[in-house]
Amino acid sequence: MTTITANLKKSAKKMPLKGMMDNVMEQFNSAADHINLHPNIRKILSITNNEVLVNFPVKMDNGDVEIFTGYRVQHNNALGPYKGGLRYHPTVDLDAARALAMWMTWKTSLAGLPYGGGKGGIKIDPSKYSESELERITRRFTFALADNIGPEHDIPAPDVNTNSQTMAWIADTYMSTRPPAQRTANQHVVTGKPDGSGGLEGRDRATGFGVYLTIKFWAEKNKVSLDDKTFIVQGFGNVGYWAAHFLEKDGAKLVAVQDAHGSIKNAKGINVEDLFNYTKVNNGSIVDFPNSKLVDKKDFFTLDCDILIPAALGNQITKENAPKIKAKLIAEGANGPTNVDGEAILLERGIAIIPDILCNSGGVIGSYFEWLQNRNGEIWHLEEVMEKLSKKLKGSFDKVFDYSERQAIDMRTAAFCIAIERIEKAYVQRGIFP
Ligand code: GLU
Repeated sequence: MTTITANLKKSAKKMPLKGMMDNVMEQFNSAADHINLHPNIRKILSITNNEVLVNFPVKMDNGDVEIFTGYRVQHNNALGPYKGGLRYHPTVDLDAARALAMWMTWKTSLAGLPYGGGKGGIKIDPSKYSESELERITRRFTFALADNIGPEHDIPAPDVNTNSQTMAWIADTYMSTRPPAQRTANQHVVTGKPDGSGGLEGRDRATGFGVYLTIKFWAEKNKVSLDDKTFIVQGFGNVGYWAAHFLEKDGAKLVAVQDAHGSIKNAKGINVEDLFNYTKVNNGSIVDFPNSKLVDKKDFFTLDCDILIPAALGNQITKENAPKIKAKLIAEGANGPTNVDGEAILLERGIAIIPDILCNSGGVIGSYFEWLQNRNGEIWHLEEVMEKLSKKLKGSFDKVFDYSERQAIDMRTAAFCIAIERIEKAYVQRGIFP
């Protein structure tokens, strides 16, 4: 072990693990230092514009009333309406929503979209509720948030444990509670809707496809082939599954998967479609998939592989596991999966990271296409969507890769610099009201 890694490990050991907010702020500040961001703009971007917290009652199937807490944080809208997902998870709180909203601001800016950043959700374990309870919870949450979201103001989308059905309930509730003349004109209040309800063909796979594409672009730049490369995925939801699907199609081999229920491995390869079908008849769980072996949760990230795709929650790669990771490339399907201490160790060890705000930006780019489709009364088809998505992602990838090479900085700092410079330009041109 080199001295730098040893020192990093030593100093990191004494401190508690950093939270998502510490991470996003450190990432922002190091990019802001690099571009010498004007202190006034640094002040503005260091805080969130609005933070909405709602407590609301919902009647459960057994007749009892339960109170839920939901959040929507709107970080910045210098480039356009706030945009970002709603997640249903026990870890959702104000701090998490703040950090995730900030990442959305950088993500939409980097992708060149006319959006700002927002994020929110409900602090809840959705597996404990029935479908009809989740519908009532979603509708009541939408009702509570209704004055703070809108198709030209703040546009939620799916995130962890929410999906196209959740978005359909939100759209329907929002439209039903608007004045009659505005009802149908408002379906783009959310994106990620089902394709029979104003959704975009291909939005379901947009994030995972984008993760795959950025890996492919990285491999091309580094003159390596994906054929026979091994990969492991944390999270087998919408992002993890689709990323694995496209990687397998391109010749790469899935050798281990972790989901909320457990971790499995098979060095000979795990067939992605078979595993997907298995989860459908196994209560959504990957555990006990035929021919696979169980892996201890804490050993998962250190398994042998070429590519590691964290596609679940934040703060997964830390100073604890980063020294033992064997992958040569980390593709961040999740938001904030690598914390800053973990990242320092990985970079020092020469492990490349495709940062979340680039790697998983296919989702919000797909959302932008859906929003345009709804706004213009158009219906786009899958081929057209995938082609436009590929083009847009290639543009972002090349920008980040070239910037990082030119300035000799890592890809995350490069991505942040590009994103912040675009927002800075808007502030410089418009000034600060009044
Ligand atoms: N939740 C996704 C993300 O974190 C998608 C957001 C969106 O489409 O607005 O990027």
